[in-house]
Amino acid sequence: MQVTFFSTKPYDRQFFVQVNQEFGHRLTFLEPHLSEHTAVLAKGQEAVCIFVNDLADAKVLEVLAAQGVKLIALRCAGFNNVHLQKAAELGLQVVRVPAYSPYAVAEHTVALILTLNRKTHRAYNRVKEGNFSLNGLMGFDLHGRTAGLIGLGKIGLATARILKGFGCRVLGYDVARHQEADAIGVEFSDLDTLYQESDIISLHCPLTPQTYHLINEASIAKMKKGVMLINTSRGATIDAKAVIKGLKSEQIAYLGLDVYEEEGDLFFEDLSDRVIQDDVFMRLLSFNNVLITGHQAFFTADALQAIARVTLQNITDFEQGRELQNQVLP
Ligand code: NAD
Repeated sequence: MQVTFFSTKPYDRQFFVQVNQEFGHRLTFLEPHLSEHTAVLAKGQEAVCIFVNDLADAKVLEVLAAQGVKLIALRCAGFNNVHLQKAAELGLQVVRVPAYSPYAVAEHTVALILTLNRKTHRAYNRVKEGNFSLNGLMGFDLHGRTAGLIGLGKIGLATARILKGFGCRVLGYDVARHQEADAIGVEFSDLDTLYQESDIISLHCPLTPQTYHLINEASIAKMKKGVMLINTSRGATIDAKAVIKGLKSEQIAYLGLDVYEEEGDLFFEDLSDRVIQDDVFMRLLSFNNVLITGHQAFFTADALQAIARVTLQNITDFEQGRELQNQVLP
């Protein structure tokens, strides 16, 4: 099948070309994001393959459908960037990769927690310059602390297992009840209790109308003073301006982000020789207790291999008229 990929990087090409030897699709790799302006590049293709910051809104889907595209294959888990209702109206099918490596994201979450706590990023720079002072590097024992996880799906549970290993008490909030959470020893909690009792709060829920700006001035006010806040889910679950206020008042003492609401203009690109225009992002970067990574939680070789295999299998299933295991419906 002919598939055009948007937003590709060398590592995407490497894994997709390698795994495609088993599938035999005809792949075209493009660098631009999918948008209203670039959708025409998919002319004559049966499928497009897109990533987290590609935009498949109603307008874009209309252009794609008019050009003969039949399948939108997301090479990620989240699907908040696709207008599912419009896709259904246009007869476009949407598939995704629901699970590729929850461990990759959970382990990155814990990397953010450990780095913020023990300040290894600051220690690394100090020692390189011959500065062995410990002032300002003090951390706290994770053992015995309470971690609150919002979203207890695959990544939330993988994170819970690791944190249990550290000896944390783990509270969890989810709109669905997962039996596995009980087996791991996660204490199911309402959101207010989670905010009030957690030393660390980590988001693992999808971006939906219900979770948009879930972390806002009101929810931050309910948290423990000195809380650590971690987000590896989607940027818009957090109101960044409210978080900046929380950092200034020291209500939030540590912030770890792998995602950012306006990341589409920033992440995955080398902007080191440009002036970054996003003042909110630059204010976040100015705090020494904020650690930001550029949407790299998924980025392990194991995850990229799995993403390529599941995406190409989704495309083959569509081509052969099989039931779509990973279809996303409105
Ligand atoms: P999942 O579907 O297995 O789990 C999501 C959980 O969130 C489900 O249990 C669901 O019931 C729960 N949920 C839904 N709405 C909620 C709400 N309003 N409040 C609380 N919980 C709610 O998904 P997953 O594989 O664990 O991934 C979670 C999210 O992580 C994805 O949606 C995606 O946005 C993000 N993600 C980020 C990266 C990255 O590289 N940073 C990689 C993969 C996934």
